Amino acid sequence: MTEQKKIALVTGANKGIGYEIAAGLGALGWSVGVGARDEERREAAVAKLRADGADAFGVPLDVTDDASVTAAAGLIEDRAGRLDVLVNNAGITGSFQQLPTTVDVTTVRTAVETNVIGVIRVTNAMLPLLRRSPSPRIVNMSSSVGSLTLQTTPGAETGPISVAYAPSKTFLNAVTVQYTKELQDTNILINSACPGFCATDLNGFRGHRTPEQGAAIAIRLATLPDDGPTGGFFDEDGEVPW
Ligand code: NAP
Repeated sequence: MTEQKKIALVTGANKGIGYEIAAGLGALGWSVGVGARDEERREAAVAKLRADGADAFGVPLDVTDDASVTAAAGLIEDRAGRLDVLVNNAGITGSFQQLPTTVDVTTVRTAVETNVIGVIRVTNAMLPLLRRSPSPRIVNMSSSVGSLTLQTTPGAETGPISVAYAPSKTFLNAVTVQYTKELQDTNILINSACPGFCATDLNGFRGHRTPEQGAAIAIRLATLPDDGPTGGFFDEDGEVPW
């Protein structure tokens, strides 16, 4: 029996690291859903991926919107009846004024709504499809700024003081751990990834790595063998401390 073509969904795949994750999985011969909320940006990304030979398709998706996420799951159900890999990549920093003592709490709420609740919403909508895969993988795109160990290590590079973005990634890592505990008796491998500091819209293109370099760890975790790790936090050099 020939092996079925793998199908993946990457959220926030119209640009930046998400686009490069989609390109990388497409280059492996996978069918890749480009999850993106803006139609024009989504279709431009799909067209570019297809021009490069990838089997890409657009998935209208706003991770903060229940109806949008439900419709995205329906689209993948109709197209393939299952999902092999979910990469929860969509993320925002929120307004840059994030000092704890002066922050507008809306900034915190907005970051958590996208970076954490969005991941839970999308994951739960996709889980019935993932459970039908022979080797399901979930990758949550986190950041080393979410590492409490690094945040409390003198001299460690942890970005600016932030009470919204960095804690949202700490929260996301905790969410990864809790999913792993509930799903420990399944074949679903779920891990957090850190792409490193990459030049994207997210940081005004100040990062010193390319989005393609940032995508590599997510692609590695998306393609783990069945005996691969679960419940971990990794960058390209190995484990990142929680
Ligand atoms: P980016 O270029 O700004 O891309 C972010 C993507 O997320 C965009 O496609 C954006 O879509 C999408 N998105 C945001 N809110 C969304 C929503 N509600 N629904 C659907 N899509 C949404 O940023 P990036 O640097 O590639 O970041 C990708 C991931 O890596 C994020 O989770 C980020 O936190 C993480 N990360 C990045 C760095 C870095 O140095 N760049 C470092 C550590 C971690 P629109 O175009 O519609 O806004």
